[in-house]
Amino acid sequence: MAHIMIIGAGIGGLTTALCLHARGLEVEIYEATSEIAPLGVGINLLPHACQILDELHLLDVLLADGIETQELIFFNKFGQQIWQEPRGIAAGYPWPQISIHRGNLQMSLLAQVEQRIGQDRIHTGMVLQCVVGDGDVARATFKPKQGDVLEIEASGIIAADGIHSTARAQFYPDEGMPLWNGAVMWRGLMETEPFLTGRSMFMAGHQEQKFVAYPVGQSEFEQGRSLTNWIAELRFPITDLLEREDWNRAGNFAAFTEQFSSWEFPWLSIGQLIEDAQTCYEFPMVDRDPIERWSFGRVTLLGDAAHPMYPIGSNGASQAILDAAAITRALVSVGGGADGIVAAFEHYQAERQPATAAVVRANRGNGPEQVMQLAEQRAPHGFTDINDILPLAERSQIAARYKQLAGFSKEALSQAK
Ligand SMILES: Cc1cc2nc3c(=O)[nH]c(=O)nc-3n(C[C@H](O)[C@H](O)[C@H](O)COP(=O)(O)OP(=O)(O)OC[C@H]3O[C@@H](n4cnc5c(N)ncnc54)[C@H](O)[C@@H]3O)c2cc1C
Repeated sequence: MAHIMIIGAGIGGLTTALCLHARGLEVEIYEATSEIAPLGVGINLLPHACQILDELHLLDVLLADGIETQELIFFNKFGQQIWQEPRGIAAGYPWPQISIHRGNLQMSLLAQVEQRIGQDRIHTGMVLQCVVGDGDVARATFKPKQGDVLEIEASGIIAADGIHSTARAQFYPDEGMPLWNGAVMWRGLMETEPFLTGRSMFMAGHQEQKFVAYPVGQSEFEQGRSLTNWIAELRFPITDLLEREDWNRAGNFAAFTEQFSSWEFPWLSIGQLIEDAQTCYEFPMVDRDPIERWSFGRVTLLGDAAHPMYPIGSNGASQAILDAAAITRALVSVGGGADGIVAAFEHYQAERQPATAAVVRANRGNGPEQVMQLAEQRAPHGFTDINDILPLAERSQIAARYKQLAGFSKEALSQAK
């Protein structure tokens, strides 16, 4: 049986380990950080990703922690409703949409890896330096946080080492920094009064100035409160990205508080929420151009390493989870042996590269949020009736097209059940 090395214990790497282990493959994970900590704020799992997590018997654990999202609503900057749609089970899908703290999701996946596969299969403090995939075995070189450089062999290597992937940089040495579209997101997490249904995700504004909020905590929900993930976003003239983005960089409230101070909606005072917030994180909206090739002999890329995308349409984690299932199917289809690795990695790339490249491109066009931009362009001072400026058929088509393209149309998933 093949022995697979996974680089990176993020959402993609850990899910891949669980999927491969469930189908009898040997896995070992190597993670750069010395201690895996629950970092990040809110993240979303769409129904197609939840299908895979359900097959891994993880849904109960995740639903006990996160929120089963009931609806998604888009508003203009005055709080006028542009579009509302039910989500997950409420929309008739066989699987839910879950909004959850990214760190909690990672820690839950980690606990399952430790329990099902073994603590000794996760090697922390191992910083990947380079990979080689063109021989009879794959090789990875690590610089441990402590000790000497190590070279380790495996039948195949899956590099799930995130947006700054070392493996990708080795195969694409001229690629440089991620591409910035000029938008900056300030993200925070805090307890608030519940808003709308208490399980609603909403977005307001347009591509120059946007506010997003959704609850992520089940225990707060049960106590009549909301653990609210919020994102304030502003767009600036594009320059080169000077500083490497970092999910944990502290944000400066002075850079955006004033712009949102007058955003008062009947269900939530955005200005007050920002004023009450103690901390936030600052992150530029970045992605990378899709690349044609992820698989290089016995090495392949997965998740953000393969297809970093704007966090629009709730797809970042979900697409990494879809990759995990696809690479598992590919390896199983060649019998799970070491000889079939190269073919399996090619097969995985052929399935997932076009699908994820389409999501990267759609997100550059605002994905499902396109209706907000159209409403702003057509009615910058607001509207009396949304149908006058954006007919229902046009709004429905934008929503349906994105779901189809990102692989979570209800029809496709209902057939999968
Ligand atoms: C600390 C952190 C916080 C985040 N917070 C959010 C958030 O709040 N909201 C959101 O939507 N998305 C967040 N993301 C991004 C999100 O997790 C991903 O977009 C998505 O889940 C795809 O997951 P991934 O496994 O491909 O990448 P990631 O989840 O980014 O995981 C990549 C992993 O690879 C490890 N790694 C990197 N370089 C090396 C190396 N050279 N050798 C070994 N290991 C390496 C990293 O430490 C990390 O554990 C965060 C990512 C990180 C790393």
